[in-house]
Amino acid sequence: MSEPRRPTPQPGILDIAAYLPGKSGAPGSGAIKLSANESPLGASPRAVEAFAASAAQLQVYPEGSSRLLREALGEVHGIDPASIVCGNGSDDLLHLLAQAYLGPGDEAVMSRYGFSVYPIVTRAAGAKIVMVEERDYSADVDALLAAVTAHTKVVWLANPNNPTGTYLDAAAVARLHAGLRPDILLVIDSAYAEYVTAEDYADGLELARTQPNVVMVRTFSKIGLAAARIGWMVGPGHVVDTLHRIRGPFNVNLPAQLAGAAAARDVAFTRRLSEHNARWRDWITAELRASSNRMRVVPSQANFVMVLFEDAETAASAFEALAQAGYIVREIGASYGIANGLRISIGAEAAMRRVAEVLKSTVPAK
Ligand SMILES: *Cc1c(COP(=O)(O)O)cnc(C)c1O
Repeated sequence: MSEPRRPTPQPGILDIAAYLPGKSGAPGSGAIKLSANESPLGASPRAVEAFAASAAQLQVYPEGSSRLLREALGEVHGIDPASIVCGNGSDDLLHLLAQAYLGPGDEAVMSRYGFSVYPIVTRAAGAKIVMVEERDYSADVDALLAAVTAHTKVVWLANPNNPTGTYLDAAAVARLHAGLRPDILLVIDSAYAEYVTAEDYADGLELARTQPNVVMVRTFSKIGLAAARIGWMVGPGHVVDTLHRIRGPFNVNLPAQLAGAAAARDVAFTRRLSEHNARWRDWITAELRASSNRMRVVPSQANFVMVLFEDAETAASAFEALAQAGYIVREIGASYGIANGLRISIGAEAAMRRVAEVLKSTVPAK
């Protein structure tokens, strides 16, 4: 075999399609972005204040383990700060988990329409991603368990899931966990936990606190701090220890640590966001269902809804009509293979009312 003529990435890396972020409108267009599940109410004012105050300390390295932030999270969620690892967004933690627990010859199992970062981090670690069919856009516990082989090392589960908005109840997640070998790590990604209103839901914290093979991953991105990049994970001591060995030594910057700690403690702000979301998520779901038999709104527990149209062309014209009206939503054909769907973040009241009107007139009942 001849020597390669240039540096070559590790096997698997070139199979990765780069993450496609939600689009923004043209700069200066005044378009409203409903494509990235960001907060329509801004950030917690206390977090903004803490972030601004950190400007006086930009010359110093942050405390490396995000102690301030872990203490705030420990206080608010009633958990031991030593069981928490923070990351530069939860994406950072997903990469670290993959790097630590997956390698060539290993498999990670996920649901067909699960979060598109899981295949990226799995392949980046040299492992194989195994996609499991869903039942009407919901993760199927039996099918996930049936896909486990002797090579399986990780199961990725977003709950609720992005981009579908569907969730598994606490009993289903417990059944999934109970069916896994003890050497398989179950990663419960509860990025949208703050928005769930279903009473039979659990965010995975209890399993992560009590089981040696479960971690729960969370983020501040969907509650007003996407720009600051803050994620956190709760898990058993041996996983926490492992991640501390390989994480960047200062992986959460100081402004983010301070803003995150303030945001975690601003429980009233998070509640306001969650109440706003529940109200307008329910409203747009009902409104679209009532206005046309040519749109299907999948029941969502997150801060977005997935709307399904009769075909990809109709979805494309709905996307265009919304963009014309100044609303950028998320196409989910290329990144998720749901070409007839659009994912629409729950925004401000005016945005929701206008989006509903535009969809109603673009895709009228037949
Ligand atoms: C948005 C999202 C994340 C990533 O969040 P960051 O903390 O911004 O990296 C993780 N998981 C799911 C399911 C998401 O939708």
